[in-house]
Amino acid sequence: MGFMRRVYLDNNATTPVLPEVFEAMRPYFAEQFGNASSIHHHGQETRAAVERARESVAALLGCRASEIVFTSGGTEGDNFAISGLARAGDHIISSTIEHHAVLNSCKHLEAMGCELTYVPVDSRGLVDPDDVRRALRSNTKLITIMMANNETGVLQPVEEFGKIAAEADVYFHTDAVQAAGKVPIDVKRIGCDLLSISGHKLHAPQGVGALYVRKGTILEPMFYGGSHERSRRAGTENVPGIIGLGKATELAREALERGDLAQMSAMRDRIEQKILSEVEATGVNGEGAPRVPNTTNIHFDYIEGEALVIALDLKGLAVSTGAACSSGAIEPSHVLTAMGLPPEIARASLRFSLGKQNTAEDVDFALSLLPQTVARLRELSPVYNRTAVSP
Ligand code: PLP
Repeated sequence: MGFMRRVYLDNNATTPVLPEVFEAMRPYFAEQFGNASSIHHHGQETRAAVERARESVAALLGCRASEIVFTSGGTEGDNFAISGLARAGDHIISSTIEHHAVLNSCKHLEAMGCELTYVPVDSRGLVDPDDVRRALRSNTKLITIMMANNETGVLQPVEEFGKIAAEADVYFHTDAVQAAGKVPIDVKRIGCDLLSISGHKLHAPQGVGALYVRKGTILEPMFYGGSHERSRRAGTENVPGIIGLGKATELAREALERGDLAQMSAMRDRIEQKILSEVEATGVNGEGAPRVPNTTNIHFDYIEGEALVIALDLKGLAVSTGAACSSGAIEPSHVLTAMGLPPEIARASLRFSLGKQNTAEDVDFALSLLPQTVARLRELSPVYNRTAVSP
């Protein structure tokens, strides 16, 4: 087999570890291998490095280092925040477009005797803060609504939710897994008590993350064991992962300060403009809402998104539908259907998500493949009647 060009535009699924991040981690696998809880030289060395990484994560989020708990990733952070607070009889407010790490945590709590309200979104994918306010009850303990959606990139008005939570004296958690590194985050400005991030979405490795826990917030731990992480998260620290997360958050903060992400949003806009102008019967899901700079979700009517993902993959382009696939039956995305998209349009949608490694040439490559691949699939489609959609 000859060389095949491959372009990866699925960075909301996971990102490659940046070379600088990998270099920062390297010594902590072998030379600086100590257990951060050991009192000897080896332990002190890794402890100091872990605490420096904590400072970097705190600097990205605008909090104190002591308010950062290292986790295994976004799923653990979301579970810890939600299950750590809620007790049977409590009422929790969430939304219909959350990641399954939040949605299934909420479902579990419902089964354990909590009351849940899932506030809806409008056609742009936005939650109306008034719906959150109206959902409050006397027993509401927590509001958990994401900052940026993983499928559409739509940014929620989290500061409004923070104000509502503060006025009502309830906790506010936000899943910022897809926001971290893409837009500035300031936990004080958001007014949240808890905020989760994940390393592998911002060019750190998979299996590490962090949860911001506002000072004074008491969470029931998920793990029982040693007194690691101020007794909030037992278990020997994933030192290389934590160092990687520290380096990645440092780089992310610098990039945000320099305004580097303007280039990324320009690339994203070019993808949208070119597809919408060259391929008929397409549209952007979440258009008109504020979005993170790296994501676009586009519907290609009369096409099965899954078929398009496979056809593009055969040509070297990796993108995704974002829709969950269960036992061969393709369920339309709960996020897109919550925005009011008919199931067939939701199933015809593709997510393109950029990362720091992507170049203008990557975008050119993707755009060179798309119109012809879509046209080919539509030729094969029994429901696509070209004359019906041509102006
Ligand atoms: N929350 C959101 C919005 C996500 O996109 C993801 C990743 O898929 C997660 C949570 C879960 O994070 P992790 O993969 O680190 O468990």
